[in-house]
Amino acid sequence: MEKTFVYAFEEGDGRNKMLLGGKGANLCEMTQIGLNVPPGFVISTEACLAYLADPNRELPAGVMDQVRMHVTGLERKTGKTLGGADNPLLVSVRSGSAMSMPGMMDTILNLGLNRATLEGLIRQTGNERFAYDAYRRFIQLFGKVALGVADEPFDEVFEAAKQSAGVKLDVGLSARDLEGICGQFLEVVERATGAPFPDDPHAQLEIAIKAVFNSWMGKRAVDYRREFHITPAMANGTAVNVVTMVFGNMGEDSATGVGFTRYPDTGENRMFGEYLVNAQGEDVVAGIRTPRPIDALAEEMPELHRQLVELRDKLESHYREVQDFEFTIEKGVLYCLQTRNGKMNAQALVRTSVEMANEGLIDRRQALLRIQPQALEQMLFPRLAPMASHRPIARGLPASPGAAAGRAVFDADRAEQLGRGGQPVILVREETKPEDIHGFFASRGILTSRGGKTSHAAVVARGMGKPCVAGAEGIHVDVRMRQAFVGEHTIREGDLITLDGTTGEVYLGEVPMIEAEFSPELDTLLGWADAAAGLRVMANADTPEDAERALRYGAMGIGLCRTERMFNATERLPTVIEMIVAESPADRQHALDKLLPMQREDFRGLFRAMAPRPVTIRLLDPPIHEFLPSEQQLVEEIDRLRHLRDTVQGMNILSDAVEFIYRGGTDHPSVARLADPRLVEEAIDKKETMLRKVRALHEVNPMLGHRGVRLGLTFPEIYTMQIRAILEAAAECLQEGLEVHPEIMVPQVCTVQELKRVKDLVSFIRTDVEERYGVRLAFRFGSMLEVVRACMRAGSLAEEAEFFSFGTNDLTQAAFSFSREDAENKFLPMYNEHGILQDNPFEVLDVKGVGRLMELAVEWGRATRPDMKVGICGEHGGHPASIAFCHRVGLTYVSCSAPRVPIARLAAAQAALDAAGGTGTQSL
Ligand code: PEP
Ligand code: MG
Repeated sequence: MEKTFVYAFEEGDGRNKMLLGGKGANLCEMTQIGLNVPPGFVISTEACLAYLADPNRELPAGVMDQVRMHVTGLERKTGKTLGGADNPLLVSVRSGSAMSMPGMMDTILNLGLNRATLEGLIRQTGNERFAYDAYRRFIQLFGKVALGVADEPFDEVFEAAKQSAGVKLDVGLSARDLEGICGQFLEVVERATGAPFPDDPHAQLEIAIKAVFNSWMGKRAVDYRREFHITPAMANGTAVNVVTMVFGNMGEDSATGVGFTRYPDTGENRMFGEYLVNAQGEDVVAGIRTPRPIDALAEEMPELHRQLVELRDKLESHYREVQDFEFTIEKGVLYCLQTRNGKMNAQALVRTSVEMANEGLIDRRQALLRIQPQALEQMLFPRLAPMASHRPIARGLPASPGAAAGRAVFDADRAEQLGRGGQPVILVREETKPEDIHGFFASRGILTSRGGKTSHAAVVARGMGKPCVAGAEGIHVDVRMRQAFVGEHTIREGDLITLDGTTGEVYLGEVPMIEAEFSPELDTLLGWADAAAGLRVMANADTPEDAERALRYGAMGIGLCRTERMFNATERLPTVIEMIVAESPADRQHALDKLLPMQREDFRGLFRAMAPRPVTIRLLDPPIHEFLPSEQQLVEEIDRLRHLRDTVQGMNILSDAVEFIYRGGTDHPSVARLADPRLVEEAIDKKETMLRKVRALHEVNPMLGHRGVRLGLTFPEIYTMQIRAILEAAAECLQEGLEVHPEIMVPQVCTVQELKRVKDLVSFIRTDVEERYGVRLAFRFGSMLEVVRACMRAGSLAEEAEFFSFGTNDLTQAAFSFSREDAENKFLPMYNEHGILQDNPFEVLDVKGVGRLMELAVEWGRATRPDMKVGICGEHGGHPASIAFCHRVGLTYVSCSAPRVPIARLAAAQAALDAAGGTGTQSL
């Protein structure tokens, strides 16, 4: 039997999006549930893939026979004939793959028109203007998409015709004007292609089908798939939908529009949409005329508004997901042309998840699974500070919320160029087109002077979570001059502007911004997530302020406090340096005695902020020379001091200037007045001591050098001070009646002997602190696993460690032998581009290598200590795919930076639900 490539809407399987594409599957399903869909059929993605694989670019055998058979079916259903002069059938030929890629592939409307059918259409509708309007649209679209003719010569003809008719908008053109335009358009095509415009509708159909298939491999589509990581497993080839044309431009009782079953920017449970009377679908999306809000239809066409609300309810209760649909009203009859899951920003996704679950439309599991965790990042976007005193210079539609500031650029290529160079960029256009997509990727925000909330710019920006102000009609954009004019203001390329996509306001300059706050719905959703998750989510936080922020994001404790960050504070650095350059244990102890109360205060702040949650404190990790100035810097400073000593003899001394120089400064106003050689000599001495120390501490390979526990064991007084500070802080908190759970973590461990020695120190200090404070301390002692040998010896380390935490930054470095400092800006981009490595292993956990080490370590560690708590605190702890892996291998917790905590909470829930058999449905 011949393979089936073509399916009528009545027969296609609505669940088979891979075969029929999302649009085709939905058209089938909508037809089958009784919605008023114009008759049509779908040519499968299998036909597309076979066509693209054929070097001669021929459609597979049988496809056109099946198409002709289905065209006959359409002719029967509609009573019209393709190419018939009396009652011509016109069709649209639309792309549609399994994943929605709005505007990225091609579509042709009004196919079937030629001079003969045009006459038939005029007779059939009695509307000459409408028929010529449809014809000129078809010639241009077919010319562009199927025959590769550029837009410009068409646009020039069209603009000239409007000028000579003295009209501003296309609706002002008469039938005669449009007839003239059609004639000239046919000439444009013939000139560009060297052949007459194809008149046979069956031939048109075959060319159009091939053109749509080809658009799957077009630059826009390929770029889009790469940017959004759409793999062949998610969408492979496009289907082609051939649909009977219905016309929204047949007069004042006709209209076309788009709707969302709920508000896509806020999630509010109310139909949102826009429409244009007497227009075709692309007019709304292209932003050529500014459409009216859907509520206005209730007054203009009340019965049709009622039918539209009914359609909205049916769509949502059937699909159980917010729908983005297109409709057309032809002479008072409502048709639904398309539906798909609505793309929403994070705020709307969260609100609709919670509300649809509360309404019983979906369950909590589905509510959690329909949001990609990464999308939550949008909710943490900045907003304009309410007190900012800037005045907007223009207002447009608030098309995609959030605020952004950047340098104005007027075309996508320039945006890409500057954006790649690291500049913040705002793309300013009259309207955007799908081919501007690379400019969107490079920009922080989008501003257009034309188009509605469903224009291309708005839809794409919302999907990407970038702020967008659309249809700011007060702005005149002159792309050629690279300028925009707003009242008396001129925005030139490179000028800083700020957009507020939540209010639609545009500002000159950079307006101060503030962090976003959690919505109550997000709190609810993340509460459900915590209940569903297996993993606990901790934060990496080094200060009480970090800890408080992490708590606001829902952290369940601190999984990593890097104590070295506390040493870096400006006022502490001199004492830290004193400790490092100390020539004797007594001198070092003197400095440590000064540091102890500071550290104790740090830890007390953290314990207080997090009580009663666990706080994991890592003992000092980096090589101590990181706290010292470089050798070169010291040599230069000593030279300068010597020069000073030789030149200022005999003048009065200002000791603060000496002190200043000692700390590294040279341009203090008092320097010139320095005179006391004794003090200068002393400063030189100190610098020379430091230089000696820096030279002594020098290592060829510091990341593999004297750091972490190695340092702790060679200078036990440093770890002694830190352990004492931790335990004394805990004791003080206990005395205050707080419940605290400190965890002491040792970095860079590779053998159990290291752990034993630190543990002995801990036991000794514990006894002393407990006696002095009269309390019983409860805490855990654990090890980082960030050295390959530690993973291999996990069974042995577990004899001493009560918990493990994978330091996957160092572990990745060690497993790959890639420097974490250098690889990402040296060879890794090339590795990724050429597919030598699929991802950046410092961002996405390398499950096959590093992950395997982790898996073994978990298994061996728990063989020794079955209740072993195991977590991860490298950067991967906040990455959704890595979190899913951590769940699979049985980790207890993940720890990540505070702003990633909400993302990790949702990812942890999804990992648990996915493991239980669910899959996500919504994507950005
Ligand atoms: C790690 O190595 O993954 C880690 C958390 O430690 P750091 O990044 O401080 O080396
Ligand atoms: Mg590390």
